[in-house]
Amino acid sequence: MKIICIGRNYKEHAKELNNEIPQEPVLFLKPDTAVIRSGSELYIPEFTQDLHHEVEVLVKISKVGKYIQPEFAENYFTEIGLGIDFTARDLQTQLKNKGLPWEKAKAFDGAALVGEFLPKENFDLKNLDFSLQKNGKTQQQGNTSDMIFDIPQLISHISQFFTLKTGDLIFTGTPSGVSQVEENDRLEGFLDGKKNFAVFIK
Ligand code: MG
Repeated sequence: MKIICIGRNYKEHAKELNNEIPQEPVLFLKPDTAVIRSGSELYIPEFTQDLHHEVEVLVKISKVGKYIQPEFAENYFTEIGLGIDFTARDLQTQLKNKGLPWEKAKAFDGAALVGEFLPKENFDLKNLDFSLQKNGKTQQQGNTSDMIFDIPQLISHISQFFTLKTGDLIFTGTPSGVSQVEENDRLEGFLDGKKNFAVFIK
């Protein structure tokens, strides 16, 4: 199983990090060892002083595909979910400034929180609210209508480069409002108003 992540897929988030609005999706990968499940505790890694949460809608691939056209992308997933792309922002900034790959800042153990998966038919994927609460207060709020590249476009683009396999996960990008997490923080994700995951920072 692999995890394909999209960077800068919401204009307001690209702006808050002073990044350009991309002309095509920005892709990076996380290994399966990055996955943690809802209800877990995440220990802040020793190599960062600035761990950030990025809440994102997840797509679980249900069928092998390569060079998938956007109009057929719907056939390649049956469930969606919610998760967090945890990011060591200080390390990512250092690596970006040196023109180096981001993996150490994005693909470490625990960097991919995966919540509950639900049938996609339950949702309007083009107009889906999601949010993240930190210690009971809303910290990030997004709607999939604000994506620069929608889910079919992402599946199509990704599958030009990587064969998608059953069980692969796509992290579709985060809206604005990313912030630092600290010891004892409790993060909870909401998909269409319903609680989808919780994670505790240690
Ligand atoms: Mg992200």
